[in-house]
Parts: sequence; structure tokens; C-alpha cells
Amino acid sequence: MSHDFLAQVSAILDSKYILIEEEEKAPYLTDWRKRYTGKALAVLLPATTEEVAAIVKLCAVTHTAVVPQGGNTGFCGGATPDSSGKQVILNLKRMNQIREIDAANQTISLEAGCILQSIQEKSAEKGFLFPLSLGAEGSCMIGGNLATNAGGTNVLRYGNTRDLCLGLEVVTASGEIWNGMKGLRKDNTGYDLRDLYIGSEGTLGIITAAVMKLYPLPISQWTTLAATQDIDSTIALLNLFQQRATSLLTGFEMMTKESLALNEKHFPQMANPLKENPPYTILIELSDHESEEHVKQLLEVILEEAFETGLISDAVIASNLSQANSFWHMREHITLAQSQEGANLKHDITIPLSSLDRFIRDTDALIKAKYPGVRIINFGHLGDGNLHYNIAPPDGEDFKAFNLANEKPIHELIYGQVELCNGSISAEHGVGQLKLDGLRAHKGEVAHELMKTLKKALDPQNILNPHKVVSI
Ligand SMILES: Cc1cc2nc3c(=O)[nH]c(=O)nc-3n(C[C@H](O)[C@H](O)[C@H](O)COP(=O)(O)OP(=O)(O)OC[C@H]3O[C@@H](n4cnc5c(N)ncnc54)[C@H](O)[C@@H]3O)c2cc1C
Repeated sequence: MSHDFLAQVSAILDSKYILIEEEEKAPYLTDWRKRYTGKALAVLLPATTEEVAAIVKLCAVTHTAVVPQGGNTGFCGGATPDSSGKQVILNLKRMNQIREIDAANQTISLEAGCILQSIQEKSAEKGFLFPLSLGAEGSCMIGGNLATNAGGTNVLRYGNTRDLCLGLEVVTASGEIWNGMKGLRKDNTGYDLRDLYIGSEGTLGIITAAVMKLYPLPISQWTTLAATQDIDSTIALLNLFQQRATSLLTGFEMMTKESLALNEKHFPQMANPLKENPPYTILIELSDHESEEHVKQLLEVILEEAFETGLISDAVIASNLSQANSFWHMREHITLAQSQEGANLKHDITIPLSSLDRFIRDTDALIKAKYPGVRIINFGHLGDGNLHYNIAPPDGEDFKAFNLANEKPIHELIYGQVELCNGSISAEHGVGQLKLDGLRAHKGEVAHELMKTLKKALDPQNILNPHKVVSI
């Protein structure tokens, strides 16, 4: 069967785009965090929607499972094949054309393999902002962003990837092409297929192109770091900015003392410019389409009020673009510092802001009591209630041994607390294979069964990224 597949796929793709040698396949077989490594019959690199459709048709006929892949920066092992060696990886990186920038409609139509940073740059060249922004933007691709419904640092103002998408082109499990490439902001024609595919992590269809929203480029941006002592005052600070700055508030990120200490350990140039690395360092960004002065004054007035009411104890306003960038780099490097330190236990969760203080207090106490000496590395897109609540073993202990012994009970403890607070066990990273069991346990039976029904209806042979998100 596998020989059949390879023989037939060579009628669709030039042989140089069918990778079968072990050393050629290797870069595609392990996820970014190096948590999962699989095997693959082949890595396929199509350049057109028609090639993708022909490959999926062949997969359907030969019962070959297909794992779609973009930049392979996902955190849940969704783009890594299983260990059977029978699945094929379909990497979309050659589908990297921008089809159209429609200035009047403020939209960009583009292929799934476009790298996020290049989309931001191409949009800016035409005077537009493409607001999706995340630490992996130099390598993640829009198809992967859509498939995981990625979040990032601008969700507070512009929403997540789902909110930025108007239309999709998708190859279905039977190899048909659904052309939903409409740049419409209103389209009430029954079930929303676009929304079904967004966030489905390659389990319902393969996204080959999309129409995304563009926004006017802000002409001024001011970034500040502010020191808070606890979560309650951090949330009060967020509410103050939301009230005073309204839609000019484009970023509100929280970094704990421990996460910035870790940053400094691995990247000494990233030392916190605030005095004595306070319990919480908050990165705040305001953006405006009016004058530089207007937004700067507003920022100063709000900070002054925050000082006077005791919400913050220190603040530094970036004096130029390069300092503002260094603040953002500090935030983005926490993920990298964590991976340099060792593979810690990650929890990408959302909690309603009103319950966040309780969640952190109770969960910290439970974790510390049960696992004395563990390090809690806590940071996140606080404006969205999104916390990256990560656990590293006590200093000097082996990460692998600690994780092996404690991963399951730690996940259960934290996810149990998430449930008590009516939160979600995946805020923005998705489910993949990492949270397959967690989803089953926490989604609720009715929702889980509905998801299985959808999967069976849209992929009856279970060939699209099987055993990711939901198992049927
Ligand atoms: C340093 C760093 C920082 C990050 N920060 C953030 C952050 O702030 N917010 C956030 O949300 N994520 C973040 N991530 C996670 C990751 O970058 C996102 O999940 C991203 O959207 C994945 O895109 P990708 O192209 O790498 O997808 P991949 O990792 O290749 O794939 C992810 C999933 O999507 C599926 N898929 C990929 N392409 C397609 C397609 N065309 N059609 C159908 N299915 C497809 C795959 O099968 C897989 O299930 C970060 C990652 C890193 C390494």
C-alpha cells in the first residue's frame, strides 16, 4: 500500500517535493518543544490548492492518514505524525503567495503557507496593519494560525485569528475544494463553515487560503512597563486603562518576578528596567491614529492616576521605538528562556478576570504544598484573562524525571482549579495530541459527543490528522 501511495503521488508532485529519505524528513518529524517525534511515510510539499486536493483524494483512496503542517511552531504536537510510519506530512510552506490586497475592502487574500511576519510586512508596505502578532511570527504560517485559532499580543484590541478571518479555501477529506474566499463582513447563510474549520487543527479539512481583515496602521504607539504588587491591583490597572484609553489600549501583558528572573538568567541583556524586579511587571501599549503627543499625554495621565491610587509603584515609558521593542522582546523571550531551562509543564489557560486572583492564590498554595520547592513560571496575555501557568521542578532536579513522575497529577490539579473557576484548559495553543485526554475530561460530555459527530461527518474515514483534538 505504501509503495502504491508513493508511486501514485509522484504523478502529482515532482520528486524533489516528495521527501522520503530519513535525513530530509527529520526536520518535520519533531515538534518545536521537542516533546513529540513521529515517523512519516513521506513529507509532501505541494505548491497549489489543486495539488493539495489531488494528494488528499489519493489519501482517501489509499486510506493514508495526512498530517497538515505549517511552520511547526505549535505547542500541542498537532503537526507531528504518530510512530507508525504510515502517515504523510503535508507541509504547506510552498503555498506562500499573497493573492490580493484589496485596499477598498481592507482585506488581504493569501495562501496558507505565508509566514506571519511577511504578511505584517507586506500589509505595512501598503499602509495597513495586520494585527496578529506572536512570538513565533518569523516562522509560523497563516494556515497554522487559522488551524489553531492563534491568539498573541493584540487580541485585546483586534481579537484572535478567528476574528480576523472573513473567508477560507479548504480541501475537504474527500479531496474537494471548498471556495469560501469571500471578503464579507456579513454573510448569514446558514451554518458558518469558516468558523468550523478555524481552530480545528487540521482534523476537518486542509486550509489552503484565506481572506483576512486589515486595519489602518497606527501612527503612534507608546509602550510602558509598570510595577504592581498583586493580581487584584493588576486587574484594577487593566480596568483603569480600559476605561480611560478605551480602544487605544492594544496590549496588556503580565510577567511575574520569577518569569523575568528566568529571562535574565538565560538572556542577561533582558534585565528588567524596573527597580528590583517587582512581583508583577505589566507591559502596556497604547496605539493611536492621531498625533504622538495625544497618546503620550493620555498614557502619562493614566499612569499618574495609577500612582496616586496606589495601583502601581514604578513605571518606565519607552523613550523610543528601540526601547519599546526591547520591552516586547523581554516578554517574548520568557518562552525561549523556559525552553532553555528545560521542558517544563505548560498550562495555557483562560480564567474570567474576576476569578483570576482566586485561581492564582488557591492553585499556587495547592501546588506548593504538594510539590515543595517547585518553580511556578507565570505570565500571560492578561488583558484576555490568558495565563501561561507553567511548572518547573525545584532547582537542580532533573526535568525529565520530575515530569515523568508528576505530569498527570499536576495537570489534573491545575485543570481542576480551572474548572472550579469556569475557565478553559486551552486558551490559545489548541489541543493537538497533548490535550486530547484533557479535552475529553473537561469539555463536557454533550460538547465532546457533538465534536465527534462533526468529525465523523466531515472525515468519515478518519484520515485527517487522526487522534488529534478528538478521537473517533
Ligand atoms: C516562541 C513561540 C511563541 C508563541 N506564542 C504564541 C502566542 O502568543 N499565541 C498563540 O496562540 N500561539 C503561540 N505560539 C504557538 C504557535 O506559534 C501557534 O500555535 C501557531 O499558530 C502555529 O502555527 P504553525 O504554522 O507553526 O502551525 P503548525 O505548528 O505547523 O501546526 C499547528 C496545527 O495546525 C495544523 N495545521 C497547520 N497548517 C494547517 C493548514 N494549512 N490546514 C489545516 N491544518 C493546519 C497542524 O496539523 C497542527 O494541528 C508560540 C510558539 C512559539 C514557538
